[in-house]
Amino acid sequence: MTDDILKVLIEEDAIAEKVKELGAKISADYAGKKLLVLGVLKGSFVFMADLIRAITVPCEIEFMAVSSYRSGVKSSGVVKIIKDIDINPQDYNILIVEDILDSGLTLKYLKELLMQRHASDIRIATLLDKPARRAADIQADYTCFEVPDEFVVGYGLDFAEKYRNLPYVGVLKPEVYEK
Ligand code: 5GP
Ligand code: MG
Ligand code: MG
Repeated sequence: MTDDILKVLIEEDAIAEKVKELGAKISADYAGKKLLVLGVLKGSFVFMADLIRAITVPCEIEFMAVSSYRSGVKSSGVVKIIKDIDINPQDYNILIVEDILDSGLTLKYLKELLMQRHASDIRIATLLDKPARRAADIQADYTCFEVPDEFVVGYGLDFAEKYRNLPYVGVLKPEVYEK
């Protein structure tokens, strides 16, 4: 698997350090608030698991599964809800947790949906931000790292459902896409 990696962009230690920092910031910002941490499956699950253990205030956990990408590297532009949350988000302060903010289409859609359901407040925490590719008018409130316009994998992010288990964020060798 590591033979398929062209370069490591963000090392495991650097991720751990940033996630701890972000957890402390989030804990301070949400003190005394009714917090719902909402992970967007599948890509966010590794980040989510580390982030919630760095959050020291009470919170509830939910997951949604949406799809805007097919198995390849290109966006279909269509957001489909595959799994919805199990609770009514009304009056919750929601922190959406994403793996990467790319075009922003997924998060824009999710944010609007949760607003329609009367959430008190909606913020976004993303592991990675790829601002070069933004198509929707949306920003993250908490970002661990900005990345260049390259397709990245690892720490939850996949290519064709593989490489999610890499402990770092890296770029694949071009020949992997051609297989
Ligand atoms: P959007 O374009 O809507 O901001 O991003 C939707 C989803 O596409 C992300 O949450 C992520 O799952 C996937 N995605 C976007 N860019 C990348 C990338 O560089 N690598 C991987 N593995 N997934 C990406
Ligand atoms: Mg995602
Ligand atoms: Mg994916």
